[in-house]
Amino acid sequence: MSETQKARSDILSFTKEELEEWVKEAGLPRFRAGQIYEWLHVRHASSFDVMTSLPNRLREELGEHFRIASLKAVQVLESKLDGTKKYLFALEDGNVIESVLMRYSYGLSACISSQAGCRMGCRFCASAIGGKVRDLEAGEMIAQVACMSRLQGERIGHVVIMGSGEPLDNYDQLVRFLRIMGDPKGECLSLRDITVSTCGIVPNIRRLAKEALPVTLALSLHAPSQEKRERLMPIAKKYPLDQVLDAMRVYYEKTRRRITFEYSCVEGENTSPEDARMLSELVRGMNCHINLIPVNPVRERPYQRPDRRKIKAFRDMLEKRGISVTIRREMGRDINGACGQLRRSYLQ
Ligand code: SAH
Repeated sequence: MSETQKARSDILSFTKEELEEWVKEAGLPRFRAGQIYEWLHVRHASSFDVMTSLPNRLREELGEHFRIASLKAVQVLESKLDGTKKYLFALEDGNVIESVLMRYSYGLSACISSQAGCRMGCRFCASAIGGKVRDLEAGEMIAQVACMSRLQGERIGHVVIMGSGEPLDNYDQLVRFLRIMGDPKGECLSLRDITVSTCGIVPNIRRLAKEALPVTLALSLHAPSQEKRERLMPIAKKYPLDQVLDAMRVYYEKTRRRITFEYSCVEGENTSPEDARMLSELVRGMNCHINLIPVNPVRERPYQRPDRRKIKAFRDMLEKRGISVTIRREMGRDINGACGQLRRSYLQ
């Protein structure tokens, strides 16, 4: 990216109100902001030149002040089993991130990254290996959805923030992303159809509860006790399990959104009958659902998934204790390297 490009701010990261403010300061009629916003967030324009309903002079002026965050698909893998597509996108500064597009009965769902790399250090996660490189801007998160939608020629109705990165470690950009995605004049996604997944950054779970953005919050739980959780997730030392669960309860009280717990099943670590008993005690009384995810082995790490029978037995033990639980359906099994592994193989 050249110096001038860097200096220009990314217009995709602007909320409609901010765009209206800019339009006003530029002495233009207010409806221009609506037009620009529609070009960006409904028609997913990738340049100002295509915004043909705007006067030439305004298109030039936009180009002088702003850039439109753009992504280049450097690799696309498509599953022969269910059509799931995994994208490796290059950002303007050359960093790469992963996004995934999945088709469900209710429509297309995008899984997007919130950071290049991650600094949370979860032991089984490929994104953690090189640490965090940088936060993504809201516009770069939006561009992942917009770009996949453009390439697919279809609207994307669901978004999960479960790619690389910890969204609550990039809080301001995340909230900006959510506000733009939910804007009825733009992407117009129902916030209920967006899931934010977190490893449990307590203060920011509490902050998010106050934003009046009723997204589904998923907590990466992965273990039934503080001691076991610390072994898999170093961040648990900073934010102990009881505090994380309290924050999740607050989130539920404020938003009334049922909580999801993600639980990666790791052989020898967290799927014994005793783990099932402890886990059911832990979440007792919470309006929640547990998603069991057979861990995806990462080359650099020793973790393996338990065999299918063991995972099913674990599920049955939870079910018997009255817990709502499913084993996550694996999409794109044939292209399903662990999250972040495509990026790692590109970096090496
Ligand atoms: N930072 C967020 C989003 C991370 S990715 C979070 O921690 O929730 C989404 C989910 O995939 C998380 O639950 C994460 O722990 C899990 N995950 C990461 N690597 C995995 C792997 N190799 N196998 C199974 N699940 C994994």
